Amino acid sequence: MENIDPFENVLKQLDKVNKILKLDEGIYESLKKPKRFLEVNIPVIMDNGELKVFTGYRCQYNDARGPTKGGIRYHWNVSYSEVKALAAWMTWKCAVVDIPYGGGKGGIICNPKEMSDREIERLSRGFVAAIYKFIGPELDIPAPDVYTNPKVMGWMMDEFSKIRQYYSPAVFTGKPLSIGGSLGRGDATAKGAWYTIREYVKHLKWDIKNTTSVIQGFGNAGAYISKFLYDQGSKIIAVSDSKGGIYNEKGLDPYKVLEYKESTGSVANYPGSKNITNEELLTLECDILCPSALENQITAENAEKIRAKMIAELANGPVTPEADEILIKNGVYQLPDFLCNAGGVTVSYFEWVQNLMNYYWTTEEVYEKLDKKMTKAFRDVISAAEKHSVDMRTASYIVAIERIVDAMKARGFGY
Ligand code: NAD
Repeated sequence: MENIDPFENVLKQLDKVNKILKLDEGIYESLKKPKRFLEVNIPVIMDNGELKVFTGYRCQYNDARGPTKGGIRYHWNVSYSEVKALAAWMTWKCAVVDIPYGGGKGGIICNPKEMSDREIERLSRGFVAAIYKFIGPELDIPAPDVYTNPKVMGWMMDEFSKIRQYYSPAVFTGKPLSIGGSLGRGDATAKGAWYTIREYVKHLKWDIKNTTSVIQGFGNAGAYISKFLYDQGSKIIAVSDSKGGIYNEKGLDPYKVLEYKESTGSVANYPGSKNITNEELLTLECDILCPSALENQITAENAEKIRAKMIAELANGPVTPEADEILIKNGVYQLPDFLCNAGGVTVSYFEWVQNLMNYYWTTEEVYEKLDKKMTKAFRDVISAAEKHSVDMRTASYIVAIERIVDAMKARGFGY
């Protein structure tokens, strides 16, 4: 899988949707290309006095529905194709939850694990100095992604504000609370995922109290979704992290598992449970399986063995396109990633709105607004699935692409 160009997947998915929507040729062509792609080279004086040059990218894929939005990733594998693909996915994600944004993404090729805090700060400020003319609250609003965090957003916002000579919190989201971050951002992805699971469970006329759940990945998204499902009465029979998984058919208490993980560094060997591999975990019989770790976990090799009734994709891209076909054939209910995990970007949008109006909401207000957005998105997608007799992933694409195309037409371009 590693050799697959991620942007090729974007094109394949677009092609599938185009066969159903039969888009105007000009519109289809313009959806296949980013509006703008910036490459910058950032000189940084390292702590030992050496000068190093880092390459960074920012892609603004499509801004028909509003300013572009998407994270900045610091990783050694950042590439032109990956940034472009992630920016396209952000465009679809913002459209499916109907927030007034286009999609963007950025990244810098670096290894932050080998850099000091001061070096990361200089790199972050250098990146902003290189791209500041192309970002802004009404233009492009970056956020954290892999190996970037609120601290990095704080430095970036400060650099942008200094260059522009005015205080501008709305240019970045995912900031610390003290400089305009939003309450409720920490667990927003899992909260949003829970709202879509809740709606699907209702739609299927299941009782959440009679369900069993399995969670792969016990980090930010995975630990929170375990707690939310547990709080609602679902029995958590297995969880895992990079060091292995644990299973107990009678159920696990995720609050206690998290305490154990915090003291030992892993969920593995949790008292009273059986150690299992991640491969075994994915194929356990259960009602709700939540892949919440990495991409490409359910592939053509293991898809036939999946015994979960529903898969809620908190991770990005956990199911490969080949596996997807097998799961659809086997009647597995799916909550696709860019619907299921859109709670994070939705609360980022709320942060931007609060920054622009200089008035801040309580956690309860944030959750209430998030619930409305996610519930509406789920209903829009399930209606499209029924209308076009298609699977939930294709339906999510249909909802998103139709909204983007409507905006493109209303603005008069694409013809
Ligand atoms: P995280 O780093 O907090 O947690 C990842 C977890 O996965 C860790 O517990 C890690 O040990 C575990 N893991 C790694 N390799 C594994 C393996 N082979 N098997 C099982 N577990 C493994 O990351 P996160 O923020 O929770 O993100 C997880 C996924 O959710 C990613 O795909 C991310 O893109 C997606 N996501 C996260 C957010 C968010 O707001 N956090 C938003 C949208 C999507």
